[in-house]
Amino acid sequence: MRRKVIAANWKMNKLPNDAMKFIAELVTIVKETDVEIILCVPYIDLFYCILNVQGTNIKIGAQNMHFEDSGAYTGEISGEMLKCIGVKYVIIGHSERRQYFGETDEIVNKKLKSAFRNDLKPIVCVGEKLEERESGKAIEVITSQTQKALDGLTKEQVENTIIAYEPIWAIGTGKTATSEDANESVKAIRAKIAEIYGDDTAQKVIIQYGGSVKPSNAKELFSTSDIDGALVGGASLKAEDFSKIIEYKD
Ligand code: PEP
Repeated sequence: MRRKVIAANWKMNKLPNDAMKFIAELVTIVKETDVEIILCVPYIDLFYCILNVQGTNIKIGAQNMHFEDSGAYTGEISGEMLKCIGVKYVIIGHSERRQYFGETDEIVNKKLKSAFRNDLKPIVCVGEKLEERESGKAIEVITSQTQKALDGLTKEQVENTIIAYEPIWAIGTGKTATSEDANESVKAIRAKIAEIYGDDTAQKVIIQYGGSVKPSNAKELFSTSDIDGALVGGASLKAEDFSKIIEYKD
């Protein structure tokens, strides 16, 4: 049985003080849980958050990284740097990075390899645009993105990759995929992994859904056969909302 993994993506929100207040609040309101909780926070919040989650079950991740470990890449942050301050997770290939910063499948693949080189667990995002869904190409797009992202990884690395299926038309729009559609897409991603790496590996991979997940739809999404949790944007900014998603069973 795969565990549920619920990750927050704060995007470019929260100064260190707000981040620390959020953690203090989340710790007091989340009861005992078997859900794995990850907060993916802006770079400047990372170290404060790592210090503030000590002794809790919350893990901290970054939202991006460069694929080289060091070098002349002004303004960039490497996997080696993230590892050195105790970061454990990193989001790779979020649609906003693909869309606004030109990240291609090849760059995403290089970043995944760099994440593993630096003992970081990647949360790699795949997802189709609205026109791709409407023209019946969604499954082709997301399985191709998955295959290209994972290219050249070992089975063990694939098993340690978290995939976030995030239909772009559902991100930050309030529109959620139906639980049936989201589950079908997640199943197709798992089937592609099974085809390349074997069913044993595919059954171990955590595949999240992301796209306007909120307290009111979390339970239904997480009750499906293949969705193993969520990557949450907007609804992760308030500790109260985020805690309700973590406590979706209640
Ligand atoms: C995201 O940015 O990964 C996301 C899923 O955002 P939202 O929950 O706001 O749709």
